[in-house]
Amino acid sequence: MSLLVQKFGGTSVGSVERIEAVADKVISYKDAGHDMVVVVSAMSGETNRLVDLAKQVDSQAGGRELDVLLTTGEQVTIALLAMALEKRGYAARSYTGGQAKITTDSAHNKARIKSIDHVRITDDLQDGRIVVVAGFQGVDEQDNITTLGRGGSDTTGVALAAALRADECQIFTDVDGVYTTDPRVEPEARRLDVITFEEMLEMASLGSKVLQIRAVEFAQKYKVPLRVLSSFEEGDGTLITSEYGADKSMEQALISGIAFNRDEAQLTINGVSDTPGVAYQILGPISDANIEVDMILQNVSADGTTDFTFTVHRNDFDTALKSLEKTAAQLNARELSGNNKIVKISIVGVGMRSHAGIASRMFEVLANEGINILMISTSEIKVSVVVDEKYLELGVRALHEGFDLKTES
Ligand code: ADP
Ligand code: ASP
Ligand code: MG
Repeated sequence: MSLLVQKFGGTSVGSVERIEAVADKVISYKDAGHDMVVVVSAMSGETNRLVDLAKQVDSQAGGRELDVLLTTGEQVTIALLAMALEKRGYAARSYTGGQAKITTDSAHNKARIKSIDHVRITDDLQDGRIVVVAGFQGVDEQDNITTLGRGGSDTTGVALAAALRADECQIFTDVDGVYTTDPRVEPEARRLDVITFEEMLEMASLGSKVLQIRAVEFAQKYKVPLRVLSSFEEGDGTLITSEYGADKSMEQALISGIAFNRDEAQLTINGVSDTPGVAYQILGPISDANIEVDMILQNVSADGTTDFTFTVHRNDFDTALKSLEKTAAQLNARELSGNNKIVKISIVGVGMRSHAGIASRMFEVLANEGINILMISTSEIKVSVVVDEKYLELGVRALHEGFDLKTES
């Protein structure tokens, strides 16, 4: 007998029929002798609908009240799932994040889980109940409702699995595992049987939304066995592990996947004097405005002046541009420009660490397709490029082909 935490995403609970199907699936595991804790997301589209409602009232809506609103989505699905389980003759109890004693910090809209007091859940399990917990939410120390950032139900699942020392955390979704790239962009993408935490973390942080990055961080930190599977088809899915096993061919894989991020925007300030403190003067106000900067590029100085380019999330583009207008005037810059029609494509793999020439192969593949690279950034296990958004699909597919990801290496 083991304890499983299963998380079902929005599409998997997108209608009453699907919730009934989730109930049947959970029961099949319960009947096989497992203790079951189930985390659910809101019905697909519901969180977006709620965000939209909030924006109609206040285009700047955020903070505490947005969290009160957004958490209602998951409250609907926990109740419906618990009802479906009870109707089938299985004792079940639903809990909101607060009731499940999931305590977070007070960073509304992107809170982090600090602790989970699982006594009540453990008691329920001992009494034979199936426990259903609302994903994506908790309460802070003052009992304010908080949410964990979009996609945060994954993190609820992993955190509960860690707290309860579950045997596995299973993330059920609308694809049957983690693929070499998003199968919606490259239908020939290949499902991976295993991927390391390190690679999954990189894929998630570079835009692969199949798992929320914090869920992967949490699972790695607390050594939670994590698996991504399909809600709709049978199969073993993808296991996220600390390291590839004895399988040599796996170890030699150069590239495990291609990630991309459509939410990028680029800002450039040309002709600023190349003197100490300029980078700080440019980026200081940006970080004061709570805007995260991703890539940064400073050109080699010519005639004592230089150009400075950086990227931010597309949602922050307008605010960043406004802030930069002031800075550009103060610095007597020659020109200020912005582009919010760019994307970032990245190749990821622990194998590239020990192989030269991966980056140049990437540039060759993109050049063969006539794709101009706007920015480049590299680390030990990834190479990222920024390109015009119109090249996203072409670039991803060409790289998938160019690195031979269709066939197992
Ligand atoms: P859920 O609502 O179940 O949380 P998400 O939409 O958050 O589901 O995540 C699943 C989606 O992630 C898939 O439908 C797929 O389009 C996308 N995705 C992006 N990159 C990958 C990848 N490398 N492997 C599998 N799916 C991916
Ligand atoms: N419902 C939330 C969202 O859409 C959380 C989740 O689905 O993981 O972001
Ligand atoms: Mg998700």
